[in-house]
This record gives sequence, C-alpha cells and structure tokens, in this order.
Amino acid sequence: MKTVLIIDDNAQFRQLLGEILAANGWSVLEAADGESGLRLVSQYRPQVVLCDLLMPRGNGFQVCRDIRSSSLIRPVRIIVTTGRDYPVDRQAAKDAGADAYLTKPISTEAILKTIAELTAAGAPPVFPAGSGSSAPAHIKFWGVRGSIPTPGSGTVVHGGNTSCIEFRAGKEIIILDAGTGLRGLGRALLAEFKDQPLNLTLLLTHTHWDHIQGLPFFGPLYSPNCRLRILGYEGARKSLEHILSGQMESPYFPVPFQKLPGNIEIEEVKDLQFQVGSVRAAAWFANHPGICVGYRLFADAGSFAYIPDNEPIMRHRIETAFCPVVAQDSVNFAKDEEARMIDFLRGTDVLALDSQYDREEYQQHVGWGHGCVDDAVSIAARAEVQRLYLFHHDPDHDDTKVAAMAAHGRKLAQEAGSNLQVNAAREGELVPLRARAGKS
Ligand SMILES: [Zn+2]
Ligand SMILES: [Zn+2]
Repeated sequence: MKTVLIIDDNAQFRQLLGEILAANGWSVLEAADGESGLRLVSQYRPQVVLCDLLMPRGNGFQVCRDIRSSSLIRPVRIIVTTGRDYPVDRQAAKDAGADAYLTKPISTEAILKTIAELTAAGAPPVFPAGSGSSAPAHIKFWGVRGSIPTPGSGTVVHGGNTSCIEFRAGKEIIILDAGTGLRGLGRALLAEFKDQPLNLTLLLTHTHWDHIQGLPFFGPLYSPNCRLRILGYEGARKSLEHILSGQMESPYFPVPFQKLPGNIEIEEVKDLQFQVGSVRAAAWFANHPGICVGYRLFADAGSFAYIPDNEPIMRHRIETAFCPVVAQDSVNFAKDEEARMIDFLRGTDVLALDSQYDREEYQQHVGWGHGCVDDAVSIAARAEVQRLYLFHHDPDHDDTKVAAMAAHGRKLAQEAGSNLQVNAAREGELVPLRARAGKS
C-alpha cells in the first residue's frame, strides 16, 4: 500500500488531511515535529511526505534537507504544506529539496492533484539529485592555469585550462570558478548523470575573465534537467548577473543567458559564512584588484580551501613601501591582515593557493594581484595546512618550470621544518579529502 507521512504540529490539520488521504487509498503516518517525522521517514520509507515549515524540533526546511541528504533507497516526494506564502520561503523550500509548495488552507483537490502529479510515471525528477556518485569527499582539478588558456606541447602535464575545481561531498557537487576547465567538467557531469536531474552550485571567487570564461560552454546550462545556483559577491562596479549575462550578449556569444533552458539562479552572497546544502562554506576577501574572495568548504572528511588569486599583502606592502615612517604602519596593518588570512586557513586539509610567480618574477609583477611560491608555502606552513597545491600557473610557465617551482616549494617546507606537502595543481588530478591522522 502507498504510504504518506504528514509532519505538522497542528493535530487538527493532520487529522483532516489524514482522513482525506486514507479515503483515497493511502496508508497514513503522522508526526507532530521534525525529529519524529524524520524517524518515521527512515523507518517506513513513505512515498510522499507532507511537511509543515514551522514546527518544533526541526523546521520543515531542515526536514527537507535531511531527507535529501540521507541515503534513502526510494526517492521520497516532499510537499511543503504551510501557512506562509513568501516568495523567499518558496525558494528556500525548493533549495532544501521540496518538490511542491502548497499554502494553507489547502483544498482536497489541490492536495490530491499534487500528489498524483508527483507520483505519476514520468513525473519531474527529484531535486537535488538523488542519484549519481556519493563517493568519498574529494576535489578534482579541471583548470589550474591563470590569466588565459595555454594549450600546447609545453603544458600537457599540468594543463592549459583556466580555473575550475569540482568539490564533492555526499550528494553535494560544488564547482569553484568557471574558467575554461568548466567545459570538460560539464561533459563529464552529463556523461555521469545522463538524463537524471543534476543539482549544482557554482561558487565564483570573482569575475575576471579567466574565472568565468567557461560558463557559456558548460553543457549542463543547456539541459532542462540541470539546476545551477551561481553564488558570488557583488562586483565593484556591476552586479554579478549583469557581468555573467554580459559576456553572453551579442556580439560576444550567440545564445543570450536568459534563453538558456537550464534552471539557473544567480545569487549575490551577503555573508562570509553560509551553507551550500550540507556543506558549510566560508569566504575571505583576497588582496586582488576588484572584489575577489577565496573559499573554504567543510566536509566531514576534511576541509578544502581555494584562493586562486591573491597577492600576499605583507610582501605587497614591503615591496611598495618607500617612506620608512608610513612603511611601519603599513607593515603592521599587513601583518594583521596576513594573520587573518592564516586564521581563515588554519588546519585546512587541502589548499589550492595562488602561486603564479617565482620570487624573482614577482619583483617584476608587484601590484598585479598575484603571489609567489615562497609566500604560498610560508602562509600554508604557518596555517598548518596539510597539502598545498600551487595554483593559477602563469601562462608563460611550461611543465618543467611548474615542476621546478613545486620542488622549490617542497625544499622550503622542509627547511622550515614543516610537514606541509607541496605539489603543483594538475588538470585532471583527483584529490581525496581525508582527515589527517589523529584528527577526529
Ligand atoms: Zn585569475
Ligand atoms: Zn583575477
């Protein structure tokens, strides 16, 4: 028999709705709060959950998220049944994984029609994706180059595509930046998910071209099965949406952003701490021209931090300070700022950090917004990072040069008596996240 679970703290509502559903052939379960509702979900695996939003011990958004993040065998249809009718709540319920949103009072026809539509063969897919890989948490490099793509025989080992990293933890798929590496990731995702729903979040550090140029060529944008949330911070001059759609306007690109069939939302993040599904995220403002952030993502297995474009502020201030009186203040300020960066990174398991130049090259590029390998190693070692990946390789650096910089970084870490592992990020490399020994 088909089973429906009603989670609502209003006993009268449960009873009325229960009677209607029982009369229509459903076996009805009831719970008066979020926690007991979730227990019944895992015990009985109902086909449909009707869930209020405001309840004791677990609100409806949390119930939706918990159901979607658990490894239920059978996809559950979730219908939010609530007295609230704010667009922001509808969106939040959808983001949390609800399939439908009904506002009380709910007519018998409306509830039966919604259930029938959601449980019919050929009904729209469940969001977020209830399928696909739930392999151990990991990251994968799809583009590691800075500034401009650099294909050619000199970059076949580390790759020529610009910034793009895939982060997976549980069912969450988070993409960091949309450089040209995004194109390959799109192909891989479509091959993996085929016509199943694809629920993705793209975090943008900033909108310099090497971080957004792959977006028009991201295959899932053209799939109606794809839901993509693009999150980033407001630009110094224009909104995020304006900038992203601008690069797809004629005469730059033939398909306008507004015409894409994928379900795409662009959101400017206002806080430096936020949640992407079950993954906690934190952001930090980098020292780079315009508005640019780095991110740190926390999974059960460990955390990954990504700061692709950053000129270590201490070095920047020292190199540009001419007047000794001003310099001391300036250096003190830089010291504090650097301490904040180190706090942000403290204990990170895997870090991809701007290391565009070697120490000598940096002297020719002071104020360009990028750092050198020596500073990247020093910062990572002081922040007690476990594994550092040199990132945002200079377009003028071939594989030999990049490998030499990584070797130099390892030597520096060793000389500093640090256990830091140093490698150069390589396109196609998958890096598992595993908690370090002795860490719970
Ligand atoms: Zn860049
Ligand atoms: Zn940049």
